[in-house]
Amino acid sequence: MGSTGTAIVIGAGVVGVTSAYALARRGWKVELVDAAPDVAAGASRGNGRQLSYSHTGALASPSLMPKLPKLALGCDPAFRLSLKPDLVYARWLTAFLWQCRRPAFARNTLECSKLASESRRAMDRLLDDHALSFGLRDAGKLVLLPDARAVDDARATLRLTAQFGQPQDILSRLAAIEIEPALEGFAAQFAGAVYAPQDQTADCALFCKRLLATITAEYGVVFRGGMRAVRIEDGKAESVVRFANGDARAAPLVIVAGGHEANRLLAPLGHRQAIAPMKGYSFTAPAGRKAPQVSITDSANRLVFTRLEDRILVAGRAELGETSAEVDVDRLQAMTRQAQAVMPDAADYSASDEGWAGIRPMTPNSLPVIRKLSSSLAINVGHGMLGWTLAMGSSNRLAQIVGSPA
Ligand SMILES: Cc1cc2nc3c(=O)[nH]c(=O)nc-3n(C[C@H](O)[C@H](O)[C@H](O)COP(=O)(O)OP(=O)(O)OC[C@H]3O[C@@H](n4cnc5c(N)ncnc54)[C@H](O)[C@@H]3O)c2cc1C
Repeated sequence: MGSTGTAIVIGAGVVGVTSAYALARRGWKVELVDAAPDVAAGASRGNGRQLSYSHTGALASPSLMPKLPKLALGCDPAFRLSLKPDLVYARWLTAFLWQCRRPAFARNTLECSKLASESRRAMDRLLDDHALSFGLRDAGKLVLLPDARAVDDARATLRLTAQFGQPQDILSRLAAIEIEPALEGFAAQFAGAVYAPQDQTADCALFCKRLLATITAEYGVVFRGGMRAVRIEDGKAESVVRFANGDARAAPLVIVAGGHEANRLLAPLGHRQAIAPMKGYSFTAPAGRKAPQVSITDSANRLVFTRLEDRILVAGRAELGETSAEVDVDRLQAMTRQAQAVMPDAADYSASDEGWAGIRPMTPNSLPVIRKLSSSLAINVGHGMLGWTLAMGSSNRLAQIVGSPA
């Protein structure tokens, strides 16, 4: 029998760690486990660091539709869509296409913005209650829009999401350069920009470490690294988690927060979720003579530039269907060249670090799945391109759904 009031959270990325926090505050005795020895070993480790609470468009959009053939043929250097003979993946792609319709895009963007604003409030509350230091900066964010059509689309999205109260504006090219003079050196054209002055940046992996230290010390959360869960047996009153090392743990509540790998545990139970892997890369380099202070998203090239203290972090590429998190040196170099072409003086690209790659767990509608699957099993998965931004709000919702221990 599992011990009363125990919740086992599988996966210690940012979603698992924040889930552990939200459940511990509800009175659960939380055991957080991960296959890796430490927290934030997956997508939460080297991401773009942007807390994009304001501008949160879903990936499946009407404007992506006409570009899909080009993506499938590998003609876009930043976005690859691999086609493979896999029924599950084919179903995911079909669902993704369905979500590109205008009404679906509007609904998904609205829902994502709502969750992002909940996240912002939850993060502010966390920081009121606990002194955590993880490089949080009020950097503000500029999303560069390539042409007049993109400006019109962004204007429509802003109207849609205005109700959530995150201040943002559409700026002309000149006004954007006034806010971030480094954009004078931006080589590609842009017609305007969305400016979100209150968006932030912070180190997601450091946040996971610091939050774990806090919940271990103050809420009695126990973390076990090196524990790969291989099977879940979903009983009525409790679920049993079996690990690769032969251990087994039973608990009245098991949460799967395993990012893009969640289906390995969920599919055998008949609970497969529509999650596709989407690989991305990041690297850092010393800040150059025109290094931006404000976070920059170059939407045409799918690149983000984030200021660290004396370095610049560049993140990008969207490789849908890629499951290996190994750095492909050629692709990393292609991204580095692309970054250098658009912001040549932002960084000393010749002194870049070795780079990193991670897998975003994508749902067709860009919304995470936060759900109870049975009386002793729940999930918090599928945070896609915005998991760092959405983690706090998602985990709050999870805790509300599962409630307090009996
Ligand atoms: C290049 C890139 C840039 C990004 N930039 C941003 C950004 O700027 N802003 C933003 O908001 N988001 C960004 N994201 C997205 C964000 O990083 C992810 O959405 C988020 O990290 C997902 O968190 P997660 O906890 O669900 O998954 P992960 O961080 O991948 O964690 C899942 C964990 O589960 C563990 N696990 C899986 N299966 C098992 C098992 N069977 N047993 C035990 N443990 C298991 C894994 O070891 C892993 O540690 C970016 C992602 C990438 C790749």
